[in-house]
Amino acid sequence: MTRDPSSVAAQDRSSAADLCLQARQLSKHFDTPAGSVPVLQQVDLEARSGDALAITGPSGSGKSTLLHLLGTLDQPSSGSLLFDDLDPFELPEQELARFRNAVVGFVFQDHHLLPQYSLLENVLLPTLAFPRDVEGDAEARARQLLERVGLSHRLDHRPSQLSGGERQRTAIARALIRSPRVLLCDEPTGNLDEDTADAVANLLFELHEQENTLLMVITHSPELAARFPRRLALVGGRLEETAVDGARGDSDG
Ligand code: ADP
Ligand code: MG
Repeated sequence: MTRDPSSVAAQDRSSAADLCLQARQLSKHFDTPAGSVPVLQQVDLEARSGDALAITGPSGSGKSTLLHLLGTLDQPSSGSLLFDDLDPFELPEQELARFRNAVVGFVFQDHHLLPQYSLLENVLLPTLAFPRDVEGDAEARARQLLERVGLSHRLDHRPSQLSGGERQRTAIARALIRSPRVLLCDEPTGNLDEDTADAVANLLFELHEQENTLLMVITHSPELAARFPRRLALVGGRLEETAVDGARGDSDG
């Protein structure tokens, strides 16, 4: 791996090796004026670099909530989350933001691109938060990623000038700009027609392979879920492993 570990000082001690993400007994409820809303109950999950997981479940079952916890965007009510031996929720707020910026990439159902910026600028946005952590030539990497997602001819275009699939491809490039080891996607193809969804999914798998990320994708689509070697379902706040194909695991014993 050419990636250098120094981008997140203390957190990054494990960069050279594969990352192992562990959720232990993660529970989450939301306190609302109407009372406590239980969402996740004692979710256990272990996954590592190279894994590709699909998470399915009915609407409102807590899929996005789980993804937010795993991506450190939100804190569990109880239980723990470990990236190797690091518990990100023990970090001070600013360090947690820095950790997340370096380690986790997000792709949402709605691309979340900023309309006033060009594609190139949108892809570069995550590099602006902690500029001193950014290694190498960020713009060169942004251009390269946009080329890999087939948009090198649209660098100066605004998101509004793109199709839905092109916007989502841009969002994927943006998610990868910091070379995150964890790529979390929340219904990334949910707004796309079937062919475009296929193309975006192909791209996700391709980049996941190339970048050796831990890929977790929430999807409503049984077709998309079926393409994943590991499939899990959220039911009644609990996460159940529904399938593990042999496809993975033979890569490094
Ligand atoms: P999914 O992504 O599976 O559709 P979510 O994770 O978005 O489900 O939501 C799970 C449940 O948690 C829903 O009942 C939702 O209303 C509730 N919920 C999500 N976020 C909040 C919040 N900030 N406050 C209160 N309830 C919430
Ligand atoms: Mg959701």
